[in-house]
Amino acid sequence: MIPTSQERDAAVKAALLELGVEAQSFKGHLLFEPWTVQTKVGGFFKVYTPMWNSVRGRDVPAPLPEPAIVTAPEAFPASDNLADWRLGRQMQRGGAIVAGYARVGAAKAMARLEEFTNGGLRDYRANRDIPGEDGTSKLAENLALGEITPAQCWHVGQAELERGNPGAETFLKELVWREFAYHLLHHTPQILNQNWKPAWDAFPWSEDSNSRNFTAWKMGQTGLEFIDAAMRELYVTGTMHNRGRMIVASYLTKHLMTHWRLGQAWFEDCLIDWDPASNAMGWQWAAGSGPDAAPYFRVFNPESQIEKFDADRRYRRTWIAEGQQAPPDTALQFYAASPVSWNLSPKTPYPQPIVTAKEGREIALSYYQSRAF
Ligand SMILES: Cc1cc2nc3c(=O)[nH]c(=O)nc-3n(C[C@H](O)[C@H](O)[C@H](O)COP(=O)(O)OP(=O)(O)OC[C@H]3O[C@@H](n4cnc5c(N)ncnc54)[C@H](O)[C@@H]3O)c2cc1C
Repeated sequence: MIPTSQERDAAVKAALLELGVEAQSFKGHLLFEPWTVQTKVGGFFKVYTPMWNSVRGRDVPAPLPEPAIVTAPEAFPASDNLADWRLGRQMQRGGAIVAGYARVGAAKAMARLEEFTNGGLRDYRANRDIPGEDGTSKLAENLALGEITPAQCWHVGQAELERGNPGAETFLKELVWREFAYHLLHHTPQILNQNWKPAWDAFPWSEDSNSRNFTAWKMGQTGLEFIDAAMRELYVTGTMHNRGRMIVASYLTKHLMTHWRLGQAWFEDCLIDWDPASNAMGWQWAAGSGPDAAPYFRVFNPESQIEKFDADRRYRRTWIAEGQQAPPDTALQFYAASPVSWNLSPKTPYPQPIVTAKEGREIALSYYQSRAF
């Protein structure tokens, strides 16, 4: 669905055809081909809820069993040795730490789906918003890498729905958010790097990747606990809770008036569940420039959000070492993982806010009021 991967697939098919081999492709990465989901008047959905209503009752073919035999070629073409690429070294110090959080491979993905179905799914609707809770499936990385298909997740979700599991419908809805992102990407590929609503092109976001604000945001040093906890979680684990993603993206694009493309690129760098469609949609949703976006005047308050969604301080204690007598390993791993050049220490006092929730809201609203969006 990504324009470059469609071009690649077309080139592979053409090359095979020249050799007399017919190649077919299947929608394993999606539940529905984008051109099969349309509004009543034709055209694609630009708003999520009507799309959900349109696809919720659709038949999704059951996943096929694994092939019993896959015939290998007599000789594989020459290839690089992956270890020679030293990918871990490129990550500097964090590689081994992130690896401890990754759940790699199809077997582990299926095991996680089963564990989630028998456990967290029941309370998913309420718990999915609590960042200190292990309340979500954590399957995004496996879905992004094709280690599990959305159809496998959908069928398990449907079976649970029929069984009356109260979390099942919300889980199916989230899978359709992923689908929505891919359908948008298919129909409007510019969502990847341009404001989906062109009116936002005039918005004076900073694009300076060396600015003090952007640097503090990346390094989890903004002085706002929700932002810093989430950015440190990202650096250590390669993932971030969905509520954290919404809050850090809103803070960057609204309070810090920094372009969503900078945040999008940092997420691409750090996320192990990086997915071009969901990442671009998520950023443009938070910034206000995307389809079905948060209204531009909705400025999340990171201070009240952390009190609401982390009332017992579990998330903050997990990721922010400063001020704790005996910080947990998670909070300390951030210092072991982050580049030496960041020069961070858990003994340094926690920073003062670079832009408080109140100041940032006023800055963002004053820009919005001066322009018609
Ligand atoms: C700024 C921003 C950037 C994001 N970047 C990514 C990204 O690069 N990759 C990515 O997979 N998701 C992204 N998301 C969406 C969402 O945060 C993650 O999918 C979710 O946190 C993954 O955790 P989980 O697997 O435990 O999800 P669960 O809550 O268990 O949901 C099940 C699955 O549904 C899908 N899903 C859930 N929420 C969303 C959503 N809001 N949008 C699209 N699909 C969703 C995912 O495939 C997820 O694995 C982003 C959201 C925002 C606000």
